[in-house]
Amino acid sequence: MVHSIPIRGEPHAHNTPITRPTIQESPLNNTAPPVADTATDTVVDKVVDKEIDKEIDTKADNTADAPKTRFSELALAPELQRAIDDLGFEFCSPIQAESLPYSLAGHDVLGKAQTGTGKTAAFLVQVVNELITVPASEERYAGEARALIVAPTRELVMQIAEDAKALTKHTNLNVHTLVGGMDYDKQRRQLHNEFVDIMVATPGRMLDFRERKDVYLDTVEILVIDEADRMLDMGFIPQMRQIVRYTPRKTHRQTLMFSATFTEEVMRLSEQWMHEPQHVEIASKSVATDTVEQHIYMVAGDEKFTLLYNMLQTISSETTIVFANRRDECRKLFDYLNAYGIKAGLLSGEIDQNKRVKTLNGFKEGKLNVLVATDVAGRGIHIDDVTHVINYSLPEEPEDYVHRIGRTGRAGNTGASVSFACEDDAFRLPAIETLLKRKITNEVPPEELLAELPEPKSPLPEQKRRPQGGGRNHGSRSHNGRDRHRGNGRGNNRR
Ligand code: AMP
Repeated sequence: MVHSIPIRGEPHAHNTPITRPTIQESPLNNTAPPVADTATDTVVDKVVDKEIDKEIDTKADNTADAPKTRFSELALAPELQRAIDDLGFEFCSPIQAESLPYSLAGHDVLGKAQTGTGKTAAFLVQVVNELITVPASEERYAGEARALIVAPTRELVMQIAEDAKALTKHTNLNVHTLVGGMDYDKQRRQLHNEFVDIMVATPGRMLDFRERKDVYLDTVEILVIDEADRMLDMGFIPQMRQIVRYTPRKTHRQTLMFSATFTEEVMRLSEQWMHEPQHVEIASKSVATDTVEQHIYMVAGDEKFTLLYNMLQTISSETTIVFANRRDECRKLFDYLNAYGIKAGLLSGEIDQNKRVKTLNGFKEGKLNVLVATDVAGRGIHIDDVTHVINYSLPEEPEDYVHRIGRTGRAGNTGASVSFACEDDAFRLPAIETLLKRKITNEVPPEELLAELPEPKSPLPEQKRRPQGGGRNHGSRSHNGRDRHRGNGRGNNRR
């Protein structure tokens, strides 16, 4: 095969550390930094409201004092500005208006925003502008990426690449995608035919290519990590860590990270991977929850499953979403519900896209009455007649509470939400109430909702596990949870 661009051999010029301006010396640093910016100011001082689940709102008309930012005010490279004009984007959306002044000035940015807010363009505008403005190294080899964007799903990667192509259409910049489920050799051939300016990839595929030396990441000038919370939810952090290790150190690259929530884990990752990041967020508008009746049941942690089971008996003919915080918690709940004969579906990061679609359809068609979901997976649920939302555990982020209960009471219907608060999560209530700007009365659940559980209809998850190395008594259930369950109707049913 004839290669149109040089293939990187060993040893070669890039084996020495890349010398390029550090972020503070970036050629774009003459861009006026945002108001109130100081070197140490890493906390956003301005929070812009946005309406949940609405079409992109670039007018920022829900912030009386927020001026609109026109793209033309950002002094972008003319080729990029033309592409933005072609797309018909005139004003920045709130997340763009908040983050671009920082990223264009060369800062790392940690942005809190969901899909639908214009967050893709928020990072792509900086990526494209930087690659146009800073010339590529004269000595380039096949597979050397200048910008790397990692996103958790194939769909997201394809969407980002499409947007990147639209924004680079008046430039010579090439956009490559690396995703699983597509012909490896075809993706590899493309890498040999064109320089890589922008690489958009899922973590697993990215690592495959890097480990086979079809791609090099030590030339990466900008690293973008999209949907960091979903990466965590889907268990991609070990791969992501490896990918980050292949890129230049954090002071020698610009890192932009976006996440719908800023959980402790997201913040920890940002500390590890980012250099003095500016935090930018658009807050949820104080919310349209009038159509949702809200209850808080105070229970002991080991009563939660009993309460859930009994509640589901009373509302069995209706559609209920049960939220929990972690995917292992969701998996366990799902297993327990099914063991107790409740037809439940599971939506969490561990479930692949096809299965999620099937589960959602099953729920919509009434084949499943209950969905168990993590926050991240739950954001994709747009079903108008969900009657109940149950928060099995209170979310870490108050905004997630609002998103969760917003799954019910939609399209003019009324809905009910019940949150279980126990010794481990009740401390999260005040922040939720602050966000809601109202108190929610704590209730003790009625005694009948704590009635003893019946026998499970099929073995509980721990009963399915076989004793390690035992060999002989494989069929016996005598020592597993069943006996313990009999002895204690509530105590062992933690989830
Ligand atoms: P995203 O949140 O990145 O998925 O973007 C949501 C949608 O908003 C996409 O269809 C974008 O093309 C569109 N969009 C992004 N930025 C703007 C903007 N400033 N003005 C109008 N539409 C936009």
